[in-house]
Amino acid sequence: MCSFLVKDSHGFLDHLLYESVLDVPIRMELMQSFGFCSWHTWQLPALPSICSPDTGYSIFASDLLRKFAYLSSSVEEGIGKKRTLKSFLAKSRRRWLSRVKQKACPACRHVSQFETYHLKELLEFIGDEEFLEAYKASSGICLPHFFLVQERYSGHGNFPLLLEAQRAMAQSLRNTLEEFIRKQDYRFRDEITSTEARAWRVAMEFVAGKPGVFTNEMGHDRVRTTRTGGISADRVSVQSTAFDRCSLAQLIEQMKGSKEATFYLKQALPQDLLGGLRDLASQKIHLSVEFVVEELGNVEYLRTLYSLGFSLLYGIGLPAQTVVLLDGKRGYMLDDHQRSSGRRLRPLKNAEDLYLNLLWRRFGIAVLLSGSIKEVDIKSGLFCLATEGSREQWCRFKKADTNELPQVGSNVEVFGWERWNTRVVELLDVYPIRRE
Ligand SMILES: [Zn+2]
Ligand SMILES: [Zn+2]
Repeated sequence: MCSFLVKDSHGFLDHLLYESVLDVPIRMELMQSFGFCSWHTWQLPALPSICSPDTGYSIFASDLLRKFAYLSSSVEEGIGKKRTLKSFLAKSRRRWLSRVKQKACPACRHVSQFETYHLKELLEFIGDEEFLEAYKASSGICLPHFFLVQERYSGHGNFPLLLEAQRAMAQSLRNTLEEFIRKQDYRFRDEITSTEARAWRVAMEFVAGKPGVFTNEMGHDRVRTTRTGGISADRVSVQSTAFDRCSLAQLIEQMKGSKEATFYLKQALPQDLLGGLRDLASQKIHLSVEFVVEELGNVEYLRTLYSLGFSLLYGIGLPAQTVVLLDGKRGYMLDDHQRSSGRRLRPLKNAEDLYLNLLWRRFGIAVLLSGSIKEVDIKSGLFCLATEGSREQWCRFKKADTNELPQVGSNVEVFGWERWNTRVVELLDVYPIRRE
């Protein structure tokens, strides 16, 4: 059983690294689980070089380190704002891990399904005479796996057959070990057979399972510690008394007294809110505003947000409804109902947790670059822009065939997404610049 699991783990990791290193869902998944467990991480170097475990792991690890940087810097800010360092750390004990790790290792989740299926299948098949004979002749399953079967399926009709086979195996292994011990006496040393000499290795696997399959017992089980630490729910929960609601104008007022405001949106903001933000942008106040957007295809709208002078970030896995977070502490959800009175923002209960959870839903930033076209590669739909700061940037339209590529030597301004972990800018639009 252990060998199956090791083999299956390899297959899973092999496939994942070969096919889906740059897949966003996989990377999101690994962000949530904070990478692989120790067992699976250490299987990576053994993968064939065609899977490029070096590149793949570099990409995943850089995501995780980015996540850690967000966490530690947001906590550092918290220390400055609240309490003393000591009381702050005492309060946030354990929560750091639960904040970076919301799920178990994806390879483990895959392999554990496989394990359940095969343990059950073993019990089914062992009722077959031929299979039972073959099982008895094999080295069987390890004891930790046997205990798992006992725990889950001891009521199964075939369990006594497995128990009997397992007892016989244990007895025979014990006999071999005892022979080996007996022959330690110098008079019998020459009589030790190769089976007896190897028996302690067989016993290691029989008693403890293959390396890594069963965890050590130092109490480091990261999944369990995270669970008891309380995984902060991803769901947006709201305080929904009509009394607590606030209006868009009140939000703008609150923003004036804040240092930082972040909007997470999957749809355009209401016109009056955008108007209020425009006014805010024209005033000289000390406030940094970020927009994290997902599935917003309207380039003109994105350009408008960008031109307000606020940061525009590329988000993935955002809540369905627009959320505004102020200073990482207070938050509001924008109501869908256009007809509801002036109070359209509902305060969020878990604003602080949501703030941290959403921090790592950012996968890139909008950039506006200008320069001249240095090189065009029609086949791949790529072009290279030499910017004024003598930076050379390769760019590409998301759908290569729908847009005409600019000509070499022309001066353009490009607006697009600089996605983290890919060096090519994903273009939203290109505008020609006229030079005097
Ligand atoms: Zn096993
Ligand atoms: Zn794992």
